[in-house]
Amino acid sequence: MNEIGRIQERLRRLEEEALAELRASRGAVKIQAVRTKYIGRKGLLTNFLREMGQLPVEERPALGQLANQLKAALEEATEQVLEKEHQRQRADQLLHAGVDISLPGRRPSLGSTHLITQVTEEIISIFQRLGFEVSEGPEVELDYYNFEALNFPKDHPARDMQDTFYFSPNVVLRTHTSPVQVRTMEKRQPPLRVIAPGRVYRHDSDPTHSPMFHQVEGFVVDHEITFADLKGTLTFFVHQFFGPNVQMRFRPSFFPFTEPSAEVDIQCVICQGKGCPVCKKSGWLEILGSGMIDPEVFHFVGYDPEVFTGFAFGLGVERIAMLQVGLSDIRIFFENNLQFLKQF
Ligand SMILES: [Zn+2]
Repeated sequence: MNEIGRIQERLRRLEEEALAELRASRGAVKIQAVRTKYIGRKGLLTNFLREMGQLPVEERPALGQLANQLKAALEEATEQVLEKEHQRQRADQLLHAGVDISLPGRRPSLGSTHLITQVTEEIISIFQRLGFEVSEGPEVELDYYNFEALNFPKDHPARDMQDTFYFSPNVVLRTHTSPVQVRTMEKRQPPLRVIAPGRVYRHDSDPTHSPMFHQVEGFVVDHEITFADLKGTLTFFVHQFFGPNVQMRFRPSFFPFTEPSAEVDIQCVICQGKGCPVCKKSGWLEILGSGMIDPEVFHFVGYDPEVFTGFAFGLGVERIAMLQVGLSDIRIFFENNLQFLKQF
């Protein structure tokens, strides 16, 4: 072996020794000491580079490159060993603290939207396609907005249908989302096309009634709005939501704030109109209330009923969700049973 071969051999051995020493070292101080021993200012490799001056000129570049590669390799190995050392120390600390990092991790469970939220969003998106905007109002409401301005005078029997929770004689938990109608009309001038989703409250609790439930209220006010607009809008909604072939009918009804008023029924989605317990053998299911806004309501908000007309409608989100998935007990929506909720 010639002189150059011997030097190459020496460098390779130096590398092996250095790596073996690094890997056997424990503790950052020891590891740094090994690094200094080889590539520090007075390290073995540094000395070798210094002594290269005595080598024949033509051999210097190749050996210099080899030595520099070796230096870079040792720097990198030092970093890796230090990082491993750091992880090991961290694991020791955790183990002392009672954490076993060798156990598989627990995947955090991902949440999803509640069925009621999904149905509300679907209803809103259908009306948004017709140009409706979304508006919201307070759940703790003045008697004036919840009843009075919607043409429910004090002691009017229609108030009995919406028994509610009172904070004081004039402050109630709203029984419907219709107060948003009045609040919006008070602040703005027609044309208005508004949809108001939200929580409402009634003093009611049985398998088909919850003291808290969700409604979506909608209304349109403009010049020359007629019952035909109401029918067209609600027909579009029913066909979008329940399917284009679902039969529907408008049935005369009464609400203090609409005149004339109509309830909207759809053909029973469970029995396709043949008659079943859900539709009480009638073949029809009531899904929403609607009507032309009563001129009395316009008086409360300062609109001239000779100039403007409008229609309004309201639907219960839980009722629609129950029909959609075939449920008979409303209370299951609010029991927070994950096995039930995860299905949707
Ligand atoms: Zn039926």
